[in-house]
Amino acid sequence: MSMNEGATNLFNVWLPQIDYNLCDGCGICVEKCPVGALGIVQGKAVVLRPDICNYCALCEEACPPQIIQLPYLIGVFPPSAEDYE
Ligand code: SF4
Ligand code: SF4
Repeated sequence: MSMNEGATNLFNVWLPQIDYNLCDGCGICVEKCPVGALGIVQGKAVVLRPDICNYCALCEEACPPQIIQLPYLIGVFPPSAEDYE
């Protein structure tokens, strides 16, 4: 299963979640995004190009107040026979 499977947004990909109430529009995440997926709209960071976001998490790491989160799907797999050996 690829990282982007199982998502629910318009482009069927997982996207950074930005807390718009706390974003001060500094633009650092926009500068750090390697593909140009982010922009500032009305003083807040926005994923303007969700179709090209590669989920690299550089914006999450770069945001000073740490208000960008990238949700991850946590899989719980049944034990294999090797686990009992
Ligand atoms: S996860 Fe990576 S590609 Fe996506 S918006 Fe953030 S920096 Fe850009
Ligand atoms: S780095 Fe954080 S505070 Fe700055 S514009 Fe991006 S989301 Fe907003």
